[in-house]
Amino acid sequence: MPLVVQKFGGTSVADSQKILAAARKAVRAHQTGNQVVMVVSAMGKNTDTLIGLAQEVNERPPAREMDMLLSTGEQVSVALMAMAIDSLGYKAVSLTGAQIGIKTDSSHTKARIHSISTDRIKTLLNEGNIVIAAGFQGIDDNLNITTLGRGGSDTTAVALSAVLGADQCEIYTDVDGVYTTDPRVLPEACLVRQVCYDEMLELASLGAGVLHSRSVEFGKKFNVPIHVRSSLSDVPGSIIVDDSETAALAVSGAALTKDEALISVFDVPDVPGTIFQIFAPIADKKITVDMIVQNVAENGNTAVSFTVPRNEVRDAIDAIQPSVEKMGGRIGLVDENVSKVSVVGLGMAEQTGVANRMFQTLANAAVNMEIITTSEIKISALVKREQALNALRTVHSEFALDKVESKEPTQLPSRDTSNQVNVAEVIERLQRDTGMESLMIDDISLDDSQSRITLSKVPNAPGIAAQLFDRIAAAGVFVDMIVQSYASSQIADITFTMPREQFDNAITVANQVCEDFGCDKVDFKKTIAKLSVSGVGLRSHTGVAIGMFQALSDANINIETMNTSEVRVNVIVDGDSGQTGIQCLRDAFRHSLR
Ligand code: ADP
Ligand code: ASP
Ligand code: MG
Repeated sequence: MPLVVQKFGGTSVADSQKILAAARKAVRAHQTGNQVVMVVSAMGKNTDTLIGLAQEVNERPPAREMDMLLSTGEQVSVALMAMAIDSLGYKAVSLTGAQIGIKTDSSHTKARIHSISTDRIKTLLNEGNIVIAAGFQGIDDNLNITTLGRGGSDTTAVALSAVLGADQCEIYTDVDGVYTTDPRVLPEACLVRQVCYDEMLELASLGAGVLHSRSVEFGKKFNVPIHVRSSLSDVPGSIIVDDSETAALAVSGAALTKDEALISVFDVPDVPGTIFQIFAPIADKKITVDMIVQNVAENGNTAVSFTVPRNEVRDAIDAIQPSVEKMGGRIGLVDENVSKVSVVGLGMAEQTGVANRMFQTLANAAVNMEIITTSEIKISALVKREQALNALRTVHSEFALDKVESKEPTQLPSRDTSNQVNVAEVIERLQRDTGMESLMIDDISLDDSQSRITLSKVPNAPGIAAQLFDRIAAAGVFVDMIVQSYASSQIADITFTMPREQFDNAITVANQVCEDFGCDKVDFKKTIAKLSVSGVGLRSHTGVAIGMFQALSDANINIETMNTSEVRVNVIVDGDSGQTGIQCLRDAFRHSLR
């Protein structure tokens, strides 16, 4: 019998009428011959209310107790849902994460799923029950209740779909599907009917809260098609699968992470190991770091800036303080008033001039970019929070995301059963060994065909990056990585890489721009090595970048610049260190290679 997992988010179970409506959807699926597992979130804004209560008694509540508290929200919903289904005349049993046997690690408030036992659910389904699972929660080895992080019920749903081999995973929410950006922020956003895992991973981790990014990791890793749709109607929504409908577009979505904080560390030595010593203690705390940028060294010292979620800025500072002091550096600037605006698109990797279009349009709107980082399929810019909405609207319109016409997929997603056995084997192995959410690396590679150019002490004002990359694109240069770092509120460094055969063209333009804008100097390296680790969910796996930093530090290799995305982490090192670098990364990640 086909098995369907249906997840209902907070707004979809916000009151008794909505709970009954959700119950009717599940019953309908049951009546049409499916086994049904429901995954339910806390009612309405209940999780927020509980967090508020906790804060009233303790500003920094112990994480274990937070999980104890927050898990009650979902427990209320599953019980009510089971009662609702009973009232419709059908059999239902509610289960908490612990009762199912969702085993997690012990990182409270952001626990990762280790294994899920399916026995009890299967028995109950075979007895004709609709099973109602509490989302977002699990249990660790010591029977402590854990939670998976805000929005984690999506992850429960896709993880359950994976282990149960479900035919459908439906995420019912309060919008019709996945839009080009949050439709509540920009009403002109368009619905996209088919999104691929990589795009969705990137969008979700950059702020598209419609799906928990780790749920997309599960989808990609275990081949679970995800159907995001409205709980208010029966219209089909968006499907997340391997293929993208918008693959040809340079940009297929935009996202905003409103609450970021920028931390800058000044006067640290520009030697191998510095980056590692700064980020290791943050990774230990499982804080996700993004937009790591480094300045050109001066007098043997450098500055490193990075962003963290605003609510984790205190923990991040506490974590790095000792090692920064030990290196003789200082935490120079903490800006909690910044937001990250990003555009994502698979087509970006194949087209020139995408970045400069974004920079130009932001410059025209007088938005200053504090920091820029790019990866193969995304560009992020850090801007002042009060300009964030304007910035998002500007780039959304520049890339015509308000005019995307999306066709309904002819076929709703169903699991490709051809490699089902393989998936089941992978799941079994992971559950037994390292855990379902453990790191999985697909590839470790070396690209030594590029050159690097850095403009240092560029005036930090709107329009300069745009001018630079406009002229670079006009010279026919295909830019790969772009990193704009932060030196002070007045100046920045801009680094970019390009194929070595285009270096001469690029350096001519860079020299002109340097003169025109009164930058300090143009620094370059003709032979660099780009070392890349690719896999799934790399940014949320805080250990990947750290693993790279550590391995390179151990091999005494200096990191010049880097970028991170959900599917790839790249670091640039000196060209002569490429071979040694790739070897030590292969050694470091040999246990995680797929
Ligand atoms: P649920 O409680 O159902 O999990 P969430 O609030 O977590 O609902 O997620 C749904 C919300 O995600 C929408 O109401 C919308 O405001 C927001 N959202 C953010 N980015 C997007 C996007 N790209 N597409 C659709 N919705 C988005
Ligand atoms: N109730 C939790 C939250 O609000 C989990 C979820 O809804 O996905 O974050
Ligand atoms: Mg959600």
